[in-house]
Amino acid sequence: MTARTHLRQSAVPPAVAALLKTLHEAGFSAYPVGGCVRDLLLGRQPHDWDVTTNALPRQSEELLQSCRVIETGVQHGTITVLAGDCPVELTTFRGEGGYADGRHPDTVTFGVTLQQDLSRRDFTIGAMAWDTEKNCLIDPFGGQRDLQNRLLRAVGDPDRRFAEDGLRILRGLRFAAELGFAVEPETAAALRRNAPRLQSLSPERVRAELQKLLCGRAAAPVLREYIEVIGVVLPELLPMVGFAQNNPHHNRDVWEHTLTVLENIPAEPVLRWAALLHDAEKPACCTVDAEGVRHFHGHQQKSAETAEAILRRLHCETRLIADVTELIKIHDIRFPATVETATRWAGRWGEKRFLQFTELRRADTLGQAHPGEAEPYYRALRAAYDEAKRQDACFTVRQLAVSGDDLTAIGLSGPAVGETLRRLLRLVQGGTLPNERAALLAEARQQE
Ligand code: ATP
Ligand code: MG
Repeated sequence: MTARTHLRQSAVPPAVAALLKTLHEAGFSAYPVGGCVRDLLLGRQPHDWDVTTNALPRQSEELLQSCRVIETGVQHGTITVLAGDCPVELTTFRGEGGYADGRHPDTVTFGVTLQQDLSRRDFTIGAMAWDTEKNCLIDPFGGQRDLQNRLLRAVGDPDRRFAEDGLRILRGLRFAAELGFAVEPETAAALRRNAPRLQSLSPERVRAELQKLLCGRAAAPVLREYIEVIGVVLPELLPMVGFAQNNPHHNRDVWEHTLTVLENIPAEPVLRWAALLHDAEKPACCTVDAEGVRHFHGHQQKSAETAEAILRRLHCETRLIADVTELIKIHDIRFPATVETATRWAGRWGEKRFLQFTELRRADTLGQAHPGEAEPYYRALRAAYDEAKRQDACFTVRQLAVSGDDLTAIGLSGPAVGETLRRLLRLVQGGTLPNERAALLAEARQQE
C-alpha cells in the first residue's frame, strides 16, 4: 500500500512546497493527491495541483492568511489557494454519504482517514497520495500497477461507483482517451451497464468531459469502442455507425470516415467538434442514383444545423457554436490553391476560419478513398495563404486603403458605400487594381 517512490521533491512547484510546509509545521498532514501524482508518475508536469489534508477549511484559511484564498466549496471541504501563480485545490480528507440523485453526495463527513478519502475517488490511478516528507506513495488500490499496465480501473465496485455519480462513466472514457489506456474489463462492463445514468447529468458537466474526451489522443478508438455509451448523450451519432457510402470517393462507412477525420485533425475543441459532426446528417440526406451510387446533397447545411442543436443543448459557448457550425457548412467547398483564391476565401471567411478549413479539408481527405491528395493540397493552400500574407494581401474591406468615410466624402451615400467597398475589394483581390488610395478613389469616382 505504501511504497518508496522515485518522485522528486524538485518536481513540486515552490508555492505548493511552501503550502505543504505551512500545514506540516502546524501539525497537520497534507499530501499532493489525484491527477498531479498520476501525471508525475507518468513523467509529465501536472497542469494543476490537488492537496488533501486533515486540516479543516477554516484551519487552513487561518494558516494561509498571506495567500489569496477562494472558498470554492467550503461545505465540501475545498478551498482554492492562489499560491504564487499556481492555484492549489486544498481539500479536507472527507468521506461521502449516499448518492440519492446519482450526482451529488447526500452528506460529506470530515474527520476521516487518508485511506477513506482515497477510497471515495473514482479511478485507481487518481486515488494515490504522495507523502513528500517520507517520500513514499500511498497507493491502497494498486494505482501505480494500473498506470504501468496502462489500465483504467474503478476504485471498489464499479457498478456502485457509477451509480453514485454517473459523470464517472464519462470521466472514465475521458481518461481512457486522454491517456490512451484500456479500460479494465469489469469497469468496462459496468460503464456500459450504467450508461443510461448519463441522462440525468447537467449539460455543463457532460460538455466538459465530452470535450476533453474529443481532444484526447485516443479519442477515435474510445469513441469506436464505446459508441453505445456516448450515444446516450449524443444520440445523433448513432445513425452514422455502419452507414455505407457506396460512392467512388469513399472507402469507409460514415462513422469510420468520421473517426479517421477525428484522428487526423489537431486536438482543438472547434476542430474536433467539427470533425465529429461534419457528416452527421449524411444518413438522412442519402439518395441513390441509377448506378446505385449514393449521394448526400445538402448534408453540409443539415449537419451544421444538427451540430448547432447539439452544442446548444450542451450549453457550449456561443463563439464555439458559431465556429463549428460555420466550418461544417463550408467543409465541402472546393477551389484551386492559388494566392488569389486564398485571399478571396480568407477574406470572406476570416483568416481564422480559413486556417481551420485547411485542417478540416486535410483530415477529411485523409479519411476518403484518395488520401494521397490530402497533404499536397493542404501544403499548397497554406503556401498560397502565406504568400498572400507576405504580399500584404487585402482580406477584408477594412484593409482597403480607403474607408467608407472617404467614399462619403466624394459623394457616395447609402448602400452605394458598402457596395463600392466590396467591388473595390474584389478588384484588389483579383489583381486588377492596386490597394492604393489614389487608384481606389479614381475607380470609385467612375461609379458616381
Ligand atoms: P485532470 O486534472 O487531469 O483532469 P484529475 O484526476 O486531477 O485529472 P480532477 O477532475 O482534477 O481530475 O479531480 C481531482 C481528483 O478528485 C481526481 O483525481 C479524483 O481522485 C477526484 N475526483 C474528481 N471528480 C470525481 C468524481 N466525480 N468522483 C470521484 N472522484 C473524483
Ligand atoms: Mg486535476
